[in-house]
Amino acid sequence: MSRGGLARCIIHVDMDAFFAAVETKEQPSLAGLPVVVGGGGNRGVVASASYEARAFGVRSAMPGVRARRLCPDLVVLPPRFELYQLYSERLHEVLASYTPLVEGLGLDEAYLDMSNAGELFGPPASIASALRERVLTEVGLGCSVGAGPSKLVAKLASKAAKPRPARSGPQPGPGTVVVSEPEVLGFLWPMPVEALWGVGPASSARLHKLGVTTIGQLAALPGEAVSAALGKAAGQLVYSLAWGQDPRSVVADRAVKSIGHEETYPVDLAEREELERRLVAMADSVAARVRRHGVVARTLTLKLRYGDFTTLTRSHTFERPQADGPNLWTAAKALLASLELRDGVRLLGLSASGLLPVESSPGEQLQLELDGLSTGSTAGRSPAGVRERPTRTAGPAWTRATGAVDAVRARFGPAAVGPAAALAGQPTPSEYGQATPPGGPGRLGVDD
Ligand SMILES: [Mg+2]
Repeated sequence: MSRGGLARCIIHVDMDAFFAAVETKEQPSLAGLPVVVGGGGNRGVVASASYEARAFGVRSAMPGVRARRLCPDLVVLPPRFELYQLYSERLHEVLASYTPLVEGLGLDEAYLDMSNAGELFGPPASIASALRERVLTEVGLGCSVGAGPSKLVAKLASKAAKPRPARSGPQPGPGTVVVSEPEVLGFLWPMPVEALWGVGPASSARLHKLGVTTIGQLAALPGEAVSAALGKAAGQLVYSLAWGQDPRSVVADRAVKSIGHEETYPVDLAEREELERRLVAMADSVAARVRRHGVVARTLTLKLRYGDFTTLTRSHTFERPQADGPNLWTAAKALLASLELRDGVRLLGLSASGLLPVESSPGEQLQLELDGLSTGSTAGRSPAGVRERPTRTAGPAWTRATGAVDAVRARFGPAAVGPAAALAGQPTPSEYGQATPPGGPGRLGVDD
């Protein structure tokens, strides 16, 4: 990729084995061990696997039971998403110093549009290696960086830059891979068709029937044959990708739309008290993240999945946006009270949305802090019939205490401080099921 000679330069940054790497950094005694995050209990699914674990064939999205069979010495840790969120924010601080055109994917991946940035930062290869160095120094974790003229190529390039698992210990990868425009087809064509965005198991099976296993073989077909096999829209998309054409742009999206947490339990929970205890911890964790984003939440949504996979959600809209654990918890508990528990609950989730910046409305923040001093007229009523309690806990003393708790969490990790009510019922690592990472379960399989 020559300096200034390229109109588009997209960079893809992908943290290496992110959750497992964060845990290893926090607990250095784990270094060199096969570690997974998530996958405890009978139903847990691996959310992230260290390269040492991958050497045994362990992968993300794999049932924990299978992972432990492949690697009997596997260290299985419960996920700590609040902690990963902190590291993710540090990553984004580094990325934002390059360009405002950053598009995050989950917590640990992002695209940057560095088109025409040569004047300021030098050629793509220098940007990529400087960026990687800075993430290593400032976040304290390894990442892989790919650069190319499109999102497709940048993402495949970062994948090519990854370390490789081996029984003798992880083999370092190149760390950065830069693909220039003239190199694109030579880079893409030897790869399996499954590497293309949009080629899932069904499309892949149809292409194999045509004798197509590589991207190059796909590109060699007439376009009509690809459309006939995959359908017109999908066929055209996949065919242009095979020819290196990917016009998707980097959409800057640092605005978070919702902040939530979900837990899947190893055994369905049928006792309301038990579920309430889980909710206290969830409300507290969601509230801490809401505050860290400098926002307040207008809406709280409870999600509940029964043993038979029927899923219900119930929402409450606050008359005055909230950011503290006790208020989220009160609303969450009332939402839970409005639902039957039937034979038991498989998954419980809580998310805050309708997020409003605190800074842009100083009057509102003041109002929040003075809430406790105002009259009972602040109590609201939602469509679900949930009563907001008059918020004595939102008074200035609580606000100060909340700040202190956040500071301790930031320093020692989220487990350092939790509401007392949750302690009794805190899941031990062995009971932990899968907690769905922000971004949803669809992200589970792509932790590289
Ligand atoms: Mg990754």
